[in-house]
Amino acid sequence: MTNNYSHCLTDTQLEDYAFGRVSPEAVADVEEHLLVCSDCQDRLQAEEEYIAAFRVAARTAQRPVQWYKPLAAAACLVMAVGLWLPFSSTKVDSVDLRAERGGVLAPAATAVAGHKLELRVDLAGLESRNTARLQIVNATGAPLAETRLDGTSVAPMWTLNRKLGAGTYWVRAYDSGGKQLREFKLDVE
Ligand SMILES: [Zn+2]
Repeated sequence: MTNNYSHCLTDTQLEDYAFGRVSPEAVADVEEHLLVCSDCQDRLQAEEEYIAAFRVAARTAQRPVQWYKPLAAAACLVMAVGLWLPFSSTKVDSVDLRAERGGVLAPAATAVAGHKLELRVDLAGLESRNTARLQIVNATGAPLAETRLDGTSVAPMWTLNRKLGAGTYWVRAYDSGGKQLREFKLDVE
């Protein structure tokens, strides 16, 4: 029987056969040649292995879309929340800044470095004066933050808009004329 496949199969013919794209009449001819040609059998096997590997690769490539993408998104969310929470924490450390009583010096207030601080400032005994503002300075006296007071509260609350590193700080109360009325030591550790 003479046919187009008496000689070795072309790469295209092998590929078409492997993919089942050869017409039924042509299949018989291809298979007839394959029966007698070990070269083409090897080439077909290589072709089929390539196709099988390609299909595995294609399935693996699809998996991230179906499985890994939601997991990756969840992992990103967990990471984002984990990173976000420490910065958005609404927890505020309350620190009492006490004035001396009856000649007894109040111990220095302590706070934790890096925490958001709310200072409760003891201005009792200064009612006769108009306490106008509070200021916090570092150990070298450089002002770090300031807040205005209405002069009516004897224990105003001051939430600092910045966090403090370890060190010694001083919180000072001034009257409207800029005279220092009281000073509190704050140790941040
Ligand atoms: Zn052949």
